[in-house]
Amino acid sequence: MDLSSSVTEIKGVGSKKAELLEKLNIFSLNDLLAHYPRTYQDRTNIRRIRELSNGEEALISGRVLRSVLTGNPYKKPVLHILIGDGSGINLEVIFFNGKWLKDSIKIGEEYSFFGRAEIKYGKYSMLHPEYSKGDAEGSEAILPIYPLTEGLRQSDLRKWVREALKTVADDEEYLPEWLIKKYNLCAHGYALRNLHFPNDRQSFAEAKYRLIFDELLMLQLGIMIVREDESHEKGIAFSKEKSADEFVASLPYSLTGAQSRVIGEIMNDLESTKAMNRLVQGDVGSGKTAVAEIALFKAVKCGYQGAMMAPTEILAKQHFAEMKRIFEPFGINVDFLGGNLTAKERRAALARLAAGETDIIVGTHALVQPDVKFANVGLVITDEQHRFGVNQRKLLTEKGDSPNRLVMTATPIPRTLAVILYGDLDISIIDELPPGRQKVTTKAVTENGRIKAYELMRSEVKNGRQCYIVAPLIEDSESYGARSAESIYEEVKTGFSDMRVSLLHGAMKQAEKDDIMGRFASGEIDILISTVVIEVGINVPNATVMIIENSERFGLAQLHQLRGRIGRGSHKSYCVLVLGSDGEIARERAKIMCESSDGFYISEQDLKLRGPGEIFGTRQHGLPDMKLADMARHSKILAASQSAAKEIIGSDKKLEKAENSALADAVRRLFGGSLELQL
Ligand code: ADP
Ligand code: MG
Repeated sequence: MDLSSSVTEIKGVGSKKAELLEKLNIFSLNDLLAHYPRTYQDRTNIRRIRELSNGEEALISGRVLRSVLTGNPYKKPVLHILIGDGSGINLEVIFFNGKWLKDSIKIGEEYSFFGRAEIKYGKYSMLHPEYSKGDAEGSEAILPIYPLTEGLRQSDLRKWVREALKTVADDEEYLPEWLIKKYNLCAHGYALRNLHFPNDRQSFAEAKYRLIFDELLMLQLGIMIVREDESHEKGIAFSKEKSADEFVASLPYSLTGAQSRVIGEIMNDLESTKAMNRLVQGDVGSGKTAVAEIALFKAVKCGYQGAMMAPTEILAKQHFAEMKRIFEPFGINVDFLGGNLTAKERRAALARLAAGETDIIVGTHALVQPDVKFANVGLVITDEQHRFGVNQRKLLTEKGDSPNRLVMTATPIPRTLAVILYGDLDISIIDELPPGRQKVTTKAVTENGRIKAYELMRSEVKNGRQCYIVAPLIEDSESYGARSAESIYEEVKTGFSDMRVSLLHGAMKQAEKDDIMGRFASGEIDILISTVVIEVGINVPNATVMIIENSERFGLAQLHQLRGRIGRGSHKSYCVLVLGSDGEIARERAKIMCESSDGFYISEQDLKLRGPGEIFGTRQHGLPDMKLADMARHSKILAASQSAAKEIIGSDKKLEKAENSALADAVRRLFGGSLELQL
């Protein structure tokens, strides 16, 4: 038996259990050992029932005072066991369908239970806890708690993991020796054992450090290998003689200081022989589009084609319409490529692009399809970059001979993650809003406050303004406890029968969505009820009110994006957050939204409130999931593993050396097919 053996080689794992393990994606011993505990039960830390708090996972120990089966004979009986630990409060342990346990947990004897405490109306309980008598589990002080699937028990997994660990020596290692020494890592075998069954806190800490290091190392190696293909030192240098000044002069406003500075940085890049690789971060409404347009103008002036990719059809269309309008007077041909062109239209657009008739192409990810060919693309821009995966970005760049690259985002990416994603990219920040912008007045209300919000909406529309109402759901049946766009639409249509009310949501046909968005933009719709489809980039400066229903269901960063749809013109704007529940966190988050309009601050607070996993999740960036590592929390390990990755790649670009072969396998395993790694 070795790590590649099937789990069925473990004693006690038959085909039935193996099927259950498959549900957890566990096929081999290797998979089993990579099934990390989700938490631990610290057997040295027995809690008193009285001191438990609601929702906490804890270990208690006490005497069985009572044990009864309830339920009528036709239903599966429920076992209720009352435990006392002398702390003055008893706890009820509940097992549905627990008849079979009745005789094994005996009245008058001591047991320990590990589970999630629930405290309701002064009653303490635990549903389906893990239990053991005395120290039946053996002598370990810290026991792993694994993610399970129905039919598997913690004790099963522990037993099998112990078996699997027998095939791994403590000094088992797959990384080169110099790396282990230099980065002061414990051996891989030791790390595995101690992650599952820690000897003590110290060895656990060492083990965790090592395995997080490994994860981040693999992640970065994978990206570096891909990037190797795209980061050509030499790029296209645009002529210094050709400036974009005449275009800048044609804009109806003058640039903000921040815009000018960022454009200066971009021009420097464009005019140098090194390929530009720049990220522009700027809060919603800071005027990133103008910056992109100026760069595109420069590209065209210098004889190159430009491309701009946006994450949604609506946004791409909007960019297209605007660029067509402002570039045509300069004799610049702007074209569009999206998902809903007819085959004929698409063919024609592709032909124009390949022939060089098109100067600027705007589109969705339709731009990265293999049959899209440019005549000579010199600049590629991705808007709201965080919506695209590494692969899409790479594919667009590959359309040219190392074109200059600009990515724009309103979602601040932490420096650490940005560096991983974009390598040694340069970052420009637009940290100033155009003048005359007023802060959007934001209020959080409960259901009762909706009437007032509606009054506000009515008076704004009477003054010629437009309004958004945003709901978390499309229709009522999707989930309980939240208002849906459809039901709000019915309500508002009746209540505001003298106004033009429309509904927009993601399940509509593209053409229909475009039509509605277009009519809203041209002022033919007064009140738009919508789901988050309007979140990204839509620009209707005449809209001054946004009511967000069940705002507690949205992330702060998302609320900030949504709110960024208003306050884009010179009129005073209002955002009303209607809270459907009044939990502590919901109120806390609403408060942050009311106080701040700074996207960077808001996302920082978001991070604090809901933990880093969601925002810095790698998945949204098209990367494999991390099991233990967390970019935000493990920044030191990240830095160490990054320098290790650079060192490795520095002497072995494609991981072809013998000493790196196990490493190459691990990287391949982590990325699967998702990055099309050419190792
Ligand atoms: P975002 O950074 O969110 O993409 P946009 O580029 O859509 O923002 O710009 C938001 C609005 O601000 C647009 O209506 C745009 O015309 C306007 N705008 C951009 N730059 C300036 C400026 N320097 N002065 C005044 N208005 C500006
Ligand atoms: Mg934008």
